[in-house]
Amino acid sequence: MKPTILTALLAIIYLSAFPQADLQINISTRRIARDVFILASDSLEGRKFPSAGRAKAAAYIAGQFLEAGLQPIEKNHEPYFQKIPVNHTRIGLTYIHLDGKLKRSGFDFSFASSMPYNNSLTLPIRFIGDEKLNMKIGGGDTIFHIVDKNIEQAMLRIEQLSKTTQAEYFAISITKSKKSTKSLIVQEYLSGQYRYPESLFKIKQHTKGLYSYPAYSEQNLKVFLFTDEITQSLYGQSLKQLQVNAKRSVKSAQQRNLTVSDLTFSSDFWVKDTVLHDDNVIGYIPGTDLSDEVVIVCGHYDHLGKSSQGIYYGADDNASGSAGVMELARMCSQARANGFDFRRTLVFIAFGAEESGLNGSYYYVSNPVFPLKQTVMVLNMDMIGRSDNKPGEPGTAYSMAIGSRSRTMKKSIRQLNRQMDNIHFDYSVNFPNSITWYFGSDHYPFVRKKVPALVFNTGLHDDYHKVTDKPEKINYESLTNILKGMFVLLVDLANEPEKYPLK
Ligand SMILES: [Zn+2]
Repeated sequence: MKPTILTALLAIIYLSAFPQADLQINISTRRIARDVFILASDSLEGRKFPSAGRAKAAAYIAGQFLEAGLQPIEKNHEPYFQKIPVNHTRIGLTYIHLDGKLKRSGFDFSFASSMPYNNSLTLPIRFIGDEKLNMKIGGGDTIFHIVDKNIEQAMLRIEQLSKTTQAEYFAISITKSKKSTKSLIVQEYLSGQYRYPESLFKIKQHTKGLYSYPAYSEQNLKVFLFTDEITQSLYGQSLKQLQVNAKRSVKSAQQRNLTVSDLTFSSDFWVKDTVLHDDNVIGYIPGTDLSDEVVIVCGHYDHLGKSSQGIYYGADDNASGSAGVMELARMCSQARANGFDFRRTLVFIAFGAEESGLNGSYYYVSNPVFPLKQTVMVLNMDMIGRSDNKPGEPGTAYSMAIGSRSRTMKKSIRQLNRQMDNIHFDYSVNFPNSITWYFGSDHYPFVRKKVPALVFNTGLHDDYHKVTDKPEKINYESLTNILKGMFVLLVDLANEPEKYPLK
């Protein structure tokens, strides 16, 4: 289906503030829309890794990079591809039996073991909570149940406890956050399906609920993680009551009075890894006198694939951002061809496997093509295709720009807003409202490596992660305006060493 708004728009941006000759650049709404419609078409099947549709999307983007005249990163038959080894991990299941019912692993509880484990057992489970035990309790066949703020803390305690008690079995409860623990377990279960090198943080990040692979331990520990509901039905007491009782027992040195119940479980736990490959698509424009410094422009191209509900087109998430990467690449290439100099090198990246845990970008920061220390800024686009304006309706395009707290960035964005018509960037570090955006997309692995970064997006909507995220719902004029603004910012980032110095 061809929407009617796709009449070619020729917008010219004048950057007379810059020392070089006035710069005239074509930005094409028609081209941007074409890219979104192609990436979000039936034949690309929702661009999920691993699928033929995903590979087609990567090939299409590489083709556009070639046409735009970007330099490739490899000298082989796939010169724009950074190959990512992917461990496809499938895990077996552990069942626990409570109130005569089977509880579901990954939903009600989770089970982790560093080794495959097959057994069926009933063991006493002893609640310790967050108390520090003064006397030694013999481990043997007892499950020690501890409480902690997060998985990392809990695992450190378990490491110590396993030494002093010789115990192999542990259970963890995490003190409740505002979000329901249950839904986080589901999230974590889903995000843990693909494991990439270095992506363990992602697994840990969401582990209010599930601890998948005990990374710290060489020992063969078996670790459960419970929702509060499971804890309640195990002991017939709430986590809060249990904590109070545990405190009392420890204070009065009556540690043998710690609450004990029985846990019956059976396990058919195994982990199977198959190594597959995914791709980041990368091309660049070499800078002039500061060519060893780089600015990265990026967005992920993968999405959720298809299910019985249909194809997840992911037009906004993130065909819009991928189209943004391609169009900005074309604009910069055009400028370069017209004799405009970019002092710093501009690197354009369409990241793979974002939806399964920022895996493409985590891989990149561990295997950077351009040194991270020389990376001045990352501009990430994730879902920039929707705005309050209806498609075809004129108005001010609105986009959030969320990133590391930076005076310079704040100033630059403010200046940009004054300079540009029809676009407003909201520079926001308005935590916690924007926190999911801060952690939730491909700029974040860079932030963790102390590379300044911004993510641009036009916010969540009802079609988010649904089969209804379709290309005809994108506001192409707003998207065009956002890219105009980003282009101006990009020129500034590429050419102003005093404003954006390497630390
Ligand atoms: Zn996305």
